[in-house]
Amino acid sequence: MADLVVARPEGLFCPPGGFYIDPWRPVERAVITHAHGDHARAGHGHYLASRASTPVMHARLPGASLATLEYGETLRHGDVTLSLHPAGHVLGSAQLRIEHRGAVWVASGDYFVAGERDDPREANRTCTPFEPVACHCFITESTFGLPIYRWAPQDDVFADINAWWRDNADEGRASVVYAYALGKAQRILAALDPATGPIVVHGAVDTVTRAYRAAGVALPATTLVTEVADPALLRRCMVIAPPSAQRSPWLRRFGELRDAFASGWMQVRGARRRRAVDRGFVLSDHADWPGLLRAIAATGASRVIVTHGFEGAMVRWLGEHGYEAGAFATEYGDLDDDAPPAS
Ligand SMILES: [Zn+2]
Ligand SMILES: [Zn+2]
Repeated sequence: MADLVVARPEGLFCPPGGFYIDPWRPVERAVITHAHGDHARAGHGHYLASRASTPVMHARLPGASLATLEYGETLRHGDVTLSLHPAGHVLGSAQLRIEHRGAVWVASGDYFVAGERDDPREANRTCTPFEPVACHCFITESTFGLPIYRWAPQDDVFADINAWWRDNADEGRASVVYAYALGKAQRILAALDPATGPIVVHGAVDTVTRAYRAAGVALPATTLVTEVADPALLRRCMVIAPPSAQRSPWLRRFGELRDAFASGWMQVRGARRRRAVDRGFVLSDHADWPGLLRAIAATGASRVIVTHGFEGAMVRWLGEHGYEAGAFATEYGDLDDDAPPAS
């Protein structure tokens, strides 16, 4: 039986379907798993994505020719039947299921799933949680595919962020958390305690946050810095800004501040120092090592193709545990929220 997905210079390609999955070069037909910049690139002829991703896809790719599918809805395309299923990574993120003459392949895109603790409280609360999809071959991301990556319960991380904010506010300093504008920013927003002070969002975060609210995701009230009339309030505010805002003049209006970075990479020794921030919060929208292994096992797949991270270690582990394992070299990751910190 021929492979349902192959690697081409333009991206991952489905020969019997005639489309690409998150291609990195311009193509005629692209299925997009989610709206992060390294997966949803401009310049394709036609896009297909989940209906839940519509507002964030439009924000990223205005004017694109976009068709959408509800999660679980099937579409006949070329010689395959395809459908999209929740990936739990960001609003609208999807796994792609491809069925062709009885063979089923699933391409995960990026996903987030509870790790060691198989606990619904560990799901991403700002989008539809990951759902395992049975398949013969699972193409999995592996951004944090090393056994050292194990996330703490997310409520512990959120409690740390809120406590840090309260301490800074009591000292009369603004708190700035750098977080990717799509996904990570909203996950933090959803967990903040608004009693501590005003929550200020950078314009890039505001655009995406509006799309989340339009999709019905409950988030606390936020404000733009230009809307804060009382300067004293700026001394106890929480600021959510994209990493690109670090060291920008935009931050000057907050005066003396404390800053932090929120990323899975903060688990690596030295990452906080390299980012030159006061605090690192280990918070990722990607599965940790136990989460990856649980997600892979839940598909029932006997064959696994690894992308997007530490392919070598994951392929070796899978091979030693009875899977037929391989890797695709991809060009994802450099624009993602959890791209490794620049050294
Ligand atoms: Zn992503
Ligand atoms: Zn990615």
